[in-house]
Amino acid sequence: MLPDFRVRQRDYLLEISRLMTEELDLQALLQRILRIAIEMIIGHAGFIALKEEKRGWHIAVHEGMPEALLNYIQRWLESLPQVGEENGEIYVPEINRMLSEVSMGMITGVGINMIFQKEFIGQIYVFRNYRGAFSANDRAVLTSFANQAAIAVRNARLFNQTREQSLRLEALLDSVADGILILKPDLTVERINRSLEHMLQIKEEACIGKPIHEVFEWAKPPQGTRIEEAIKEIWPTTAQEHLYLEGDLIRKMTHDTLPVGITYGPLFSEEGELLNIIASIRDITRFRTAEEMQNNFISVVSHELKTPIALIKGYVSTLRREDVQWDREVVQESLAVIEEEADHLTAMVEDLLDATRLQTGGLSIRKSEIFIPAIAKSLVPRFQTQAPEYYFVVDFPEDYPSVVADEDRIRQVISNLINNAIKYSPPGEIRISGKVRLTDVVVCVSDHGPGIDPRDIPHIFDRFYRSDEVAKKTKGTGLGLYLCREIIKAHGGKIWVDETYQEGSRICFSVPKNSAS
Ligand code: ADP
Repeated sequence: MLPDFRVRQRDYLLEISRLMTEELDLQALLQRILRIAIEMIIGHAGFIALKEEKRGWHIAVHEGMPEALLNYIQRWLESLPQVGEENGEIYVPEINRMLSEVSMGMITGVGINMIFQKEFIGQIYVFRNYRGAFSANDRAVLTSFANQAAIAVRNARLFNQTREQSLRLEALLDSVADGILILKPDLTVERINRSLEHMLQIKEEACIGKPIHEVFEWAKPPQGTRIEEAIKEIWPTTAQEHLYLEGDLIRKMTHDTLPVGITYGPLFSEEGELLNIIASIRDITRFRTAEEMQNNFISVVSHELKTPIALIKGYVSTLRREDVQWDREVVQESLAVIEEEADHLTAMVEDLLDATRLQTGGLSIRKSEIFIPAIAKSLVPRFQTQAPEYYFVVDFPEDYPSVVADEDRIRQVISNLINNAIKYSPPGEIRISGKVRLTDVVVCVSDHGPGIDPRDIPHIFDRFYRSDEVAKKTKGTGLGLYLCREIIKAHGGKIWVDETYQEGSRICFSVPKNSAS
């Protein structure tokens, strides 16, 4: 027959091995371990102290301990060397000495280290409220138990770490702006993040387990190799091999399409087995629009540049004809057209250069004290000659102050606005007016044309933007208002469409009164 303490030890060890596999909640596990330890050696109270990277030594669980004694021990634990300093173990005889001092010998205790593979995890303390030392058997029972308990604590900690990591990963997946889709090697869906749900207006639950081709439906064949085809061939052979394709995905809910770029990356196990394929999906609408605008811009600009050049060339070759004697008046008129077209070309090239400078951050502003009403007045004669069917009104209040700004740039902005008013409105009045506000001054240019479509208002200050309607009827690069906005921004001001004005278009800009920096 086994001696009594051996039987007890066997039963308790069995219980702890059950706990090791069943209980993964660290706190509950420690509580159970402590209870068993107290029962095993017929104690009355106890605690488990753990040593942790972040918290140092602390009492993790306790049972039957008087509050005052617990506080006392906790303070004592805090005074111990921190983890990583020295070797940081609690010195058992010391706590016993302390206890006997506090309880005047009424309480005896035993402390056992919990060690797993040389890693010091913590200590279990059990107390009895009667005199008498713990026997060697008590210690033996508790020691083998404590080492098993150390494994259980370690397992629970690892489990917690893994759970925390996967929670972190989940949070990360759901916080990225790109859509993410995780596929199993058989190309069925395992996980979809929130961005992708939002992008394609789908629900994760409805997609899990579905083959990829049911989730990604293309409006027309995408550019690049589809994952279904790639996987049939030899993709992927290495973790670095990514697959990229671009196209328009169908959104089944709304029956529209979304332009996307998809990158597929494989995830291999250490043994080289394909675990998952991770797809990141980027909405490329903006990129497409920018690309379209750029293409459109190139065709518009080449056309715009060609027109004056063709005109100039036409007039020059006519004038050069040797078989005709041109009279002075015809020569003068032809030269005027050539000059005008050359000016037009220069202005266009200037705009292009300014736009490039803005892209590279090189638009310079040279400020001095300027008087905007005078600038506006000085512009009128030129526009009046150029567009005699229009009637220009300059209307600024008496108290309109001087401001500190770049005179040439402000002239450029006002000229652009007047040019647009002439271009986009039928002959009539064009008014350049001013207003003084508390902290800034405002300049507006108004016409009596068809106005600006509310749908275009948010975009007209964008680079290369031209409204579809307008683009069909007039020439332009879509750079004018963009440059105006950037110039005004560089002055610390704002530019906007005055939507309260109903008789045509009114575009206003402001310049701070004290922009003397
Ligand atoms: P562009 O004149 O070369 O097209 P802008 O940047 O100057 O480029 O203008 C952008 C767009 O804003 C124009 O294509 C036009 O649709 C609209 N717009 C600008 N000014 C006016 C105006 N006074 N009336 C109506 N539409 C205007």
